[in-house]
Amino acid sequence: MKRTISGFCKVILSSIIFLMAVLTCFNTQEFTSNAANNIVIVIDPGHGGTGDRNLGAQYNGFSEKELTLQVANAMKAELEKYEGVTVYLTRTTDVYMSLDDRAAFAQSVGANFVYSIHFNASSEHEFYGSEIWTSAFGSYYQKGYDFGQIESTELGALGLYQKGVKTRLGSSGKDYYGIIRSCVARSIPCVIIEHAYIDHGYDVPLLRSADFINKLAVADATSVAKYYNLKSSTNDFAGFKYSKVAKPSRAVPDDTTDPEVCDIKILGTDKASGNVLVEMTVKDSQSPIIYFAYSYDGGKTYSYLQMWDRTKATQSFNVKVPAGYSNPVIKCKCYNSYEKFKESQELTVTF
Ligand SMILES: [Zn+2]
Repeated sequence: MKRTISGFCKVILSSIIFLMAVLTCFNTQEFTSNAANNIVIVIDPGHGGTGDRNLGAQYNGFSEKELTLQVANAMKAELEKYEGVTVYLTRTTDVYMSLDDRAAFAQSVGANFVYSIHFNASSEHEFYGSEIWTSAFGSYYQKGYDFGQIESTELGALGLYQKGVKTRLGSSGKDYYGIIRSCVARSIPCVIIEHAYIDHGYDVPLLRSADFINKLAVADATSVAKYYNLKSSTNDFAGFKYSKVAKPSRAVPDDTTDPEVCDIKILGTDKASGNVLVEMTVKDSQSPIIYFAYSYDGGKTYSYLQMWDRTKATQSFNVKVPAGYSNPVIKCKCYNSYEKFKESQELTVTF
């Protein structure tokens, strides 16, 4: 028997199709206006739970997994003062959560951007300052870089040295950091904000200063508000303008090579004070030089890392040789923003 659709059925069917079309239009419209007016932000407090890997950095009585949750909670509270933004945290308690689960959660709530909150430490305890990691790819790089520049300005205003906005590729050719990789795989831009080093004498007094954790959170929230041109009852960033980096057509790689030049000259010596005036010239064509250090014992021991003015290729500074130290041998080194370093030649001083 041949099946035909009766006239009555046709009327019902076309009514249903019409109704569905109307509903689809309505939904699309609602979705569009919703997307234009409401930004969904996911804040990810790094680490959490027990076990070595999940604690994050531990030093000086600081626990990274606790600091990240404190900043994230305060950042959420600050960001919620703005109009047109919905804020979620990936975790609100001290629990383990995989990086992929964090990204999956962000996707489930329709995140426009994921901000992963972290604190830093280095194995030799020599580095200090803030750094922001973004994806190496296309619009994800672009969004992370633009946000990172705003964030870096905010954190710098709190007195933290700024190491910059960086990318890192893994051996697979994808983003090295799991939270960024998992978010990008779900079409969500993501940055890691490494606020400060909990193991360095330059950052720790700041971290211990009054209300500093809250100040970091406000800096984070303000950066998001500036990036999305948000306004609150007290802040209006609707007209805030920021420079936008071009969308790269291929992956922006990290700098895996040492600086190319680190040369020194002795400009003068003063035996009475023990001062040796040194001029240093540096070059790295891939990333800026951000730190330098000096030695008077031929590089056996070095000074703390000093801040290098990255707008200059040549700078001079005094190396103080302790009284009674005979035949000092001056040697210096410079570090790029990827912590790759190059040592200078050695110069013996005769007082
Ligand atoms: Zn961390």
